[in-house]
Amino acid sequence: MKQLSRLQLLLICLLLAVASQQLFSFMVRLIDEAHYSRQRMDVVNQLGRFRLDLEQRLNSTFYITQGIEILISTLIVEGTSLLSQQDKIEAWAREATTRLPYINNVAVSEAYIIRFTYPMEGNSAALGHNYRDIPTQWPTVQRAVQSRMPVVAGPLQLIQGGTGIICRIPLFSHAQGKNHGQFVGIVSMVVDYQALLQSAGLAEAEKTLSIAMRGKDGLGASGDIFYGEDDLFAVANISQKVSFLGGEWLLAAKPKTGWSHESPYSIRLSILGYLVSLLIAVLCYFAVRGMQLRIGAAEYFSKALELRVAERTQQLSIAKTEAEKANEAKSDFLAVMTHELRTPLNSILGLAQLTEAMELGDLQRSYIAKVVSSANLLLSLINNILSYTKVESGNAGLEPQAFVVADILQKLNDVFEIQATEKALLFSVEVASDVPSFVECDKGKLLQVLTNLCGNAMKFTERGAVSLSVRRIASDDEGDDNCWLRFVVSDSGVGISEQDQQIIFKPFRQIDSSVARQYQGSGLGLSICQRFVQLMNGRIGVTSQLQQGSQFYFEIPVRPLANRPAESDLSSAQRLQKAVAASQPLLQGMTVILAEDNRFNQTLAVALLNKVGVTVKVAENGLQVLSLLEQIPVHGILMDIQMPKMDGLATTEQLRADRRFYDLPIIAMTANAMQEDKQKVLAAGMNDFVAKPINFEHLYRVLISCLQHEKLYPEQV
Ligand code: ADP
Repeated sequence: MKQLSRLQLLLICLLLAVASQQLFSFMVRLIDEAHYSRQRMDVVNQLGRFRLDLEQRLNSTFYITQGIEILISTLIVEGTSLLSQQDKIEAWAREATTRLPYINNVAVSEAYIIRFTYPMEGNSAALGHNYRDIPTQWPTVQRAVQSRMPVVAGPLQLIQGGTGIICRIPLFSHAQGKNHGQFVGIVSMVVDYQALLQSAGLAEAEKTLSIAMRGKDGLGASGDIFYGEDDLFAVANISQKVSFLGGEWLLAAKPKTGWSHESPYSIRLSILGYLVSLLIAVLCYFAVRGMQLRIGAAEYFSKALELRVAERTQQLSIAKTEAEKANEAKSDFLAVMTHELRTPLNSILGLAQLTEAMELGDLQRSYIAKVVSSANLLLSLINNILSYTKVESGNAGLEPQAFVVADILQKLNDVFEIQATEKALLFSVEVASDVPSFVECDKGKLLQVLTNLCGNAMKFTERGAVSLSVRRIASDDEGDDNCWLRFVVSDSGVGISEQDQQIIFKPFRQIDSSVARQYQGSGLGLSICQRFVQLMNGRIGVTSQLQQGSQFYFEIPVRPLANRPAESDLSSAQRLQKAVAASQPLLQGMTVILAEDNRFNQTLAVALLNKVGVTVKVAENGLQVLSLLEQIPVHGILMDIQMPKMDGLATTEQLRADRRFYDLPIIAMTANAMQEDKQKVLAAGMNDFVAKPINFEHLYRVLISCLQHEKLYPEQV
């Protein structure tokens, strides 16, 4: 419908109008036909009524005539004249004429000569006449005699004057039986047929009808017309037979105004038809146009809406991309920042640890201990940011580790007891007896969560106590093999309002920045706790009341172990000594290039490597690495990634392109500690990865697995 052009629409409307007009014409035709049929029915009915009455009257006239004939028959005596019985005949004739007013007179002939007439007055002229001599009457007389049946004659000119119809019944003697009797005479009854017609209702019928009659002398359709117009007997008109004793007449009629083939309503209906058709066409045109316009408008609005939606979607997508970019930028910034912070911190911690392992005076040892503790605090802050960045970028995974539950609780106790004493708080750790002694889970993350929660409790409590408790709880899932532990860190500190409890797990959110400043913090601790606990498939929450203290709890699944895991909890100096003792025999005598631009890191790495007997050639960038390799053969390279002039990745690629250094062990050493950084360096062709700050045990392990004593690069021939 939408695609119809105006011209097409006009044509359709026109066709519709023509069709509806045709329908109306058809209806008009039907109505006209019904009208015509009804007209004919009316004519049939009216004519029928008249015919019935006429027939009745004609027949009753005949019956009377017949009655007189029968009576007269009884009078017939052989050899006597009927006239001798004139009185009786007259009495019967009088009776008849008074009964039916249109019977003018009764005449009786002996043979063919009229001998009797009643009333005499006005009819006496007929007496003595012989029918044979009256040519207008003789044929019917003859017919009656020959047929021995009653016959109607006329209408005809009467001898005594005027016109009339005559019912004649021949009289026969009964001597030889009814059908063989001798002809005696004729009983004739003259009927004023005009009066008869009127008394049958002709005038009434002729008010609406034109009527004609034929059948002179009772001859029916073959008789002459004796009343009305000839043409009324045309086929189109109504005709009816009037049957009576001695003959029949045929009546014909049509409406006085002629046949009307059109109903009086047909013109009005035709006009109405034209008007309605026109109206239908116009309405149809405007309805369709209206609909087209409405569809057009709806389409326009829907297009406009679509455009608006598309525009908004685009805006949202741009906004989303921008937000993602901003988030990426934030993550990048945090990654870079942590890298930049970790690099010097790496040196500080490493050197402090090395110094700790030396012979020191008590004062120096206490200074160094403070340096190590401050650096550790700083490192934990940086680790928090790094952890958050890792979780945020989806790079944090679980690193399950077997451990002794009591050990990590002891560790926490050691750390926080000191802080509690400093703040005059009570600190306690409580382990329920149903907690398994040895378990496996991500120990690092568990420790970080507990450290954060206990750290907060200490931070926000000025009086009273802080406690850490752990107990076993039933698992929600019956088929779960894990053991669920519930850790609760309670304090009697400032508490958290219900409203603030909703926001504290969101990153960088602190209840009141000014208060937080008083307590220090990044607003990341709880957010990391929540993410780590979720990562461990657990749940975390808080109940608290302002000024009443807080209870932070979390529940995690752990795998209970039957045996004590092999694990050392030595001090870092003891660990270093142990690691050196184990690695030195394997690494002693090797030579490596250390590609590192940071002086402190150089010193730390050189010291750690020298401790296990490894000779170190230091290069400050990739170019120096290439030139050093041309001067001395080495067992491998420890390669920083971010260096001036030529970075670690470019240097590695160049070396791998040189057949001599195709399988030279290259170990990345970088503070870019993310999973994707590791993948990047391995993809560039490096053999392994050591994160900064350097875990010396890991460094020695990687060197042992990558370097081989007998393999020097370039190969010596
Ligand atoms: P922050 O490093 O600032 O402590 P967190 O994410 O660990 O960040 O904590 C967010 C905020 O939640 C804190 O700034 C503090 O307002 C509130 N909060 C956390 N722990 C406690 C506690 N034990 N008692 C009272 N308030 C706390």
